[in-house]
Amino acid sequence: MKKIGVLTSGGDSPGMNAAIRAVVRAGIYNGLKVVGIKRGYEGLINGDIEEMKLSSVADIIHRGGTMLRTARSEAFKTEEGFKKALNVIKIFGIEGIVVIGGDGSLKGAERLSQAGIPTIGLPGTIDNDLAYTDYTIGFDTAINTVLHAISNIRDTSTSHGRANIVEVMGRHCGDIALYAGLAGGAESIIVPEEEFSIDEVCKRLIQGKNRGKLHSIIILAEGASKNSYAIAKEIEEKTGIEVRITILGHIQRGGSPTAFDRILASQMGSKAVDLLIQGKKSRAVGIKGNEICDFDILEALSMKKKMNKDLYALTKILSI
Ligand code: ADP
Repeated sequence: MKKIGVLTSGGDSPGMNAAIRAVVRAGIYNGLKVVGIKRGYEGLINGDIEEMKLSSVADIIHRGGTMLRTARSEAFKTEEGFKKALNVIKIFGIEGIVVIGGDGSLKGAERLSQAGIPTIGLPGTIDNDLAYTDYTIGFDTAINTVLHAISNIRDTSTSHGRANIVEVMGRHCGDIALYAGLAGGAESIIVPEEEFSIDEVCKRLIQGKNRGKLHSIIILAEGASKNSYAIAKEIEEKTGIEVRITILGHIQRGGSPTAFDRILASQMGSKAVDLLIQGKKSRAVGIKGNEICDFDILEALSMKKKMNKDLYALTKILSI
């Protein structure tokens, strides 16, 4: 193998730059040429590709977002678009690709491998919704961003004696809500994976108020069965406590990556290069029990994500 490419695809996440840097530097260290493919699979179709030097990835490890930019590409899913991408790969002499992105991007990586282009996937998403890995690149930064927001909201919540619903991202996965909620001492955590009762949320609010508590934070995952406005209305009607809503949105996708995400991304980027050099294809890189590991992409994507029930149970015990 002489030349590899790297791209970021789908939703961006903090730490993608650290992963790109690791792929480029580990690749060059191992005597490979490395090219950067811009805007995910769109750049692959359009030939938006440039050679990466050691200096191309200087000064990016601490930056959020992705220097290669990212995109969602409908064209790549079509036969015609996919063929164009294969042609570009041939013309540029690319012999292996590292794809950094979420589950959709990993499906694309699998398709490239099937077509004979060895491709390795790295989990780049804040959602932590991939079952095969304990953590995805960007999750730790996202929960720290949420934690910071919770502390700020708690200050003003205390001053006014209000309850606050903080809605966080994660699509169908409640991990951001669960981890940030536990770390931030949220009074209630509502996740898509668990049934919840408004009456229980109200009971906690009333009990807290009677104990002299001046604030209350309810963390709501965006994938939960009810939205913030419906929940706030019900709580106000049932308790008379004023409820304010904060929807954190894309603030969670940005920011300088934490040390954990930078280290994870660096290890995973380097592992991807090792796998390509070893002649592997269609592997998804992850971390399990503090060990960097790799699985067949199809196998990785077929695993069902399970919420950490012990952690959820703990939040209930500690927030009484
Ligand atoms: P994420 O990677 O963050 O989950 P998407 O699901 O939007 O984001 O996927 C990113 C891109 O990956 C898509 O725009 C598309 O180009 C490609 N992709 C997604 N699913 C497939 C698939 N089944 N086959 C080929 N490419 C896919």
